[in-house]
Amino acid sequence: MVKRLEQLLKRKDLSVPRGPFNTIHSFVERAEGAVMVDVEGKEYIDFAGAIGTLNAGHCPPKVVEALKDQLDKYIHPCFHVMMYEPYIELAEKLNEITPGNHHKKTFFLNSGAEAVENAVKIARKYTGKKGIISFERGFHGRTLLAMSLTSKVKPYKYGFGPFAPDTYKMPYPYYYRDGRTSDEMDEAILNQFENFFLGEVPSDEIAAILLEPVQGEGGFVIPSKKFVQGIRRICDQHNILLIADEVQTGFGRTGKMFAMEHFDVVPDLMTMSKSIAAGLPISAVTGRAEIMDTPAPGEIGGTYGGSPLGCVAALKVIEMLEEDGLIERANMIGEKVMGTFRKWEERFEFIGNVRGLGAMCALEVVKDRKTKEPDSDLTKKIISTCNENGVAVMGAGLYSNVIRILSPLVITDEQLEKGLNIMEEQLLKINPRVSF
Ligand code: PLP
Repeated sequence: MVKRLEQLLKRKDLSVPRGPFNTIHSFVERAEGAVMVDVEGKEYIDFAGAIGTLNAGHCPPKVVEALKDQLDKYIHPCFHVMMYEPYIELAEKLNEITPGNHHKKTFFLNSGAEAVENAVKIARKYTGKKGIISFERGFHGRTLLAMSLTSKVKPYKYGFGPFAPDTYKMPYPYYYRDGRTSDEMDEAILNQFENFFLGEVPSDEIAAILLEPVQGEGGFVIPSKKFVQGIRRICDQHNILLIADEVQTGFGRTGKMFAMEHFDVVPDLMTMSKSIAAGLPISAVTGRAEIMDTPAPGEIGGTYGGSPLGCVAALKVIEMLEEDGLIERANMIGEKVMGTFRKWEERFEFIGNVRGLGAMCALEVVKDRKTKEPDSDLTKKIISTCNENGVAVMGAGLYSNVIRILSPLVITDEQLEKGLNIMEEQLLKINPRVSF
């Protein structure tokens, strides 16, 4: 008899195009906290967290209960037809917890890309300017404008042009790969903006700078406070809005509610999604009230934006972050993971760099520590053997040589230890370049 998994894989190949990628070649049967169980009963410790969507874990009981209650009341009247209170409650909550004490307003969409697209629309309408600057290695989604603002050719952009006009990229510091000190690199990049405004596009044609406070898909690259504050200063000097894309970094991932708090910088607009609602598809744009109010009624929105289910889930997730100590937990997870990564860095020649902010941790795989030549093949091998052996883990980075940890923050100490042990066993098995 053909096994269920084989049947499912066959059906998938026949019915679904190969474009939507899969990290693990199996199908989930159930999931709870930081563990997924596939259709064959095999357990996976989840270090991928649905690409950073599950800070509150799989099926958190508080969220499930709130969703069931909501299902008994109404599913989707659509905010544009008849309003509902959870939408307002979540907007109020995000206005309260996002950086800055100014008057803010929030509205909702479905995905990270859609939040980015809408933040750009609002910034353009408010400033009356068209240009948007994003950063090299940045990732903002797969829709046309978000893809145009993204900076990795394969697999995100190759063959998908033409791209949206009036989008520009500037460098983003990558201290590990740059020979200069972080101070020198920050200064060089910040100075480059002045040259850009002189040589390429005048600042009075730039509506916004779109910044990931820590680059996610770009490889968990962490800038300095000086750099992020420098970007804020450039925005202030030139009447440019600062949009912080916190789609991957938000909701406790980096050990603070939002990553921008690490840099003491308040953005004008912020995009959020992923871990906002434990896997319900909802995203948000929050920003200064006067900016958010620029589009007239009907100019922004969408049929499903801010669905009641997404709103009630998000309210419970935020309650968990605020009341159940999940943000403190992010810092504890980060310490444990980084402690282990640092030991691996000493031990395995092919680990060129380890880095992390809170529970957003990564290691970078290289062919040679001196040249820092990326080793994407070895990275792929490590990821697939970890996945095969029961740890769901994913890659990242412009050179596809970064392994990133985005485990749910509800992961237990035992699960975290077990996952790291499995990873270590694979590292030992896979590569003989061990120092001791
Ligand atoms: N912005 C950032 C920083 C992201 O990491 C992502 C997704 O990884 C997006 C935007 C796009 O989100 P979505 O895949 O929900 O469209």
